[in-house]
Amino acid sequence: MSKYKVDENGYYGNYGGAYIPELLYPNVEELKEAYLRIMNSPDFIQEFRHLLSDYVGRPSPLYFAKRLSEHYKTKIYLKREDLNHTGAHKINNTIGQILLAKRLGKTRIIAETGAGQHGVATATVCALMGLECIVYMGEVDIQRQAPNVARMKLLGATVVPATCGSKTLKDATNEAIRDWINHPENTYYIIGSVVGPHPYPDMVARFQSIISEEMKQQLKEKENNEYPDYVIACVGGGSNAAGAFYHYLDHPEVKLIAAEAAGKGIHSGHSAATSALGKPGIIHGSKTLLMQTEDGQIVEPYSISAGLDYPGVGPVHAHLFETGRAEFISITDDEAVKSAFELCQLEGIIPALESAHALACLSKLNFKPDEVVVINLSGRGDKDLSTYMNFLK
Ligand SMILES: *Cc1c(COP(=O)(O)O)cnc(C)c1O
Repeated sequence: MSKYKVDENGYYGNYGGAYIPELLYPNVEELKEAYLRIMNSPDFIQEFRHLLSDYVGRPSPLYFAKRLSEHYKTKIYLKREDLNHTGAHKINNTIGQILLAKRLGKTRIIAETGAGQHGVATATVCALMGLECIVYMGEVDIQRQAPNVARMKLLGATVVPATCGSKTLKDATNEAIRDWINHPENTYYIIGSVVGPHPYPDMVARFQSIISEEMKQQLKEKENNEYPDYVIACVGGGSNAAGAFYHYLDHPEVKLIAAEAAGKGIHSGHSAATSALGKPGIIHGSKTLLMQTEDGQIVEPYSISAGLDYPGVGPVHAHLFETGRAEFISITDDEAVKSAFELCQLEGIIPALESAHALACLSKLNFKPDEVVVINLSGRGDKDLSTYMNFLK
């Protein structure tokens, strides 16, 4: 039994669990009872693998970044999740969950979204399966993320504004949970990261674990060794990192590096550096590290990258941080943008701002020339062009 995987009670060490309203018990119990059985059934595996290859375009390449490697004097590979259909890793999870929803007989899909990336990935798979799709999104985010709102609508989803509180992600999540309570029979809630009540964090990590499964095979071919010296990934809720770390968790010789968003500086009051600032608390139905005030109010997070703009981390990451299995590095907005520009110019790849936080760890670590470093390039930067344009001279 791995120390870093979920235990039979739904915990990772001190974190995790299912802190949910009484009315959601039947839904969460149904999922808890069924998810492993369904995910391990041959017909599920076949359909999941088929869609990952022919619809998403997997396996995603493991690309040896020659010029970047020369620059940092080590061997750097990029796991190209940016080349997936819809431009990021999120589709791996939404495909998995919609196949599960179908097998549970659900006909209506709900989701919450902040930047709109998870909303787009959910709307995509709902169109693919012909299922109704309702996406809750904060009113402020709807204004900030107009292109993704248009994408969701094109794909046939209904986007419902959350008008309470700060009108951002946590308010959208509250609305989604309220909807789920009101439609427990026919509705499935697709959560977009390794967050939420057990079994969501474990389920999402398993769907995303295809990333490190492929890395192992690809490294075996390229380096004749499945185990790199470093795996580096950014952490918002932590799903791309959970997938990139998954098959390496019990191999301590592989150093795991989590990049989190320091925004304008860890102590600037404009940050999302959860490991540095968080205290144990409950958010979205699980116990984890959470940015909060003395009396337990959630602190509004900030990051230049919408996907990292989250006040907590998934419980698995709280545990990886507490046990020291993963090293957490905080990256400011400016450092991330600088690294994004560097990748554009050295490799001809425009990364997502989230992924640029992982790239920025390169200048914070000391590598030996023959070490193998894998960076999970979680998404492409097209969605961030207007932000990048503000930094072009
Ligand atoms: C959403 C997103 C993230 C952050 O989510 P995780 O669950 O932490 O992976 C990172 N990168 C990209 C490109 C995203 O769209």
